[in-house]
Amino acid sequence: MPEDVCTPAVCTTSDLIVGFANSGAELTAWLTRYAGEPTVDEVDVVAARDLRAALLTLLRAHSDCAGEDEVASAQGYLERIAARYPLVPRISAEGCTLVPAQTGVLGVFGAVLAAVTNLAYQGGWPRVKVCKNIGCHEAFFDKTRNCSGLYCSPACSSQVSMRAYRSRQRSA
Ligand SMILES: [Zn+2]
Repeated sequence: MPEDVCTPAVCTTSDLIVGFANSGAELTAWLTRYAGEPTVDEVDVVAARDLRAALLTLLRAHSDCAGEDEVASAQGYLERIAARYPLVPRISAEGCTLVPAQTGVLGVFGAVLAAVTNLAYQGGWPRVKVCKNIGCHEAFFDKTRNCSGLYCSPACSSQVSMRAYRSRQRSA
């Protein structure tokens, strides 16, 4: 990746992806908030869970902790469902971004796919990763200059080095 492509900045695009990936048990609330609709049905939640699982697999791939087979199946899944959430170009004098063609919950799924696409065009997609601290595994946007970040926060990073230190002490 050329170094100048990614100025370390968290933009709304990566925020949307990270927020969706980290929605955890709050998935329905997250969907309701973004869709602006009071009723999100069971079918929507199942679709959201599948989409989130596929994206999380790719985020784990960005952190070098996903198997080839699961990455291939996540990619296949995303290719199949992409047609359900079409995107359209929004063109201005300054440039162009992709936006969802639909509204409501389907529009939220479209917005997530658009965020990935727009971020990928800016060179930032490989920067959305999962934290390597076992027991955290939160999605985060890697702001390091050379895209070498492994942990979501300094707290996770020091937990891991503390654990490594203790295990060295034990084996010494
Ligand atoms: Zn973490």
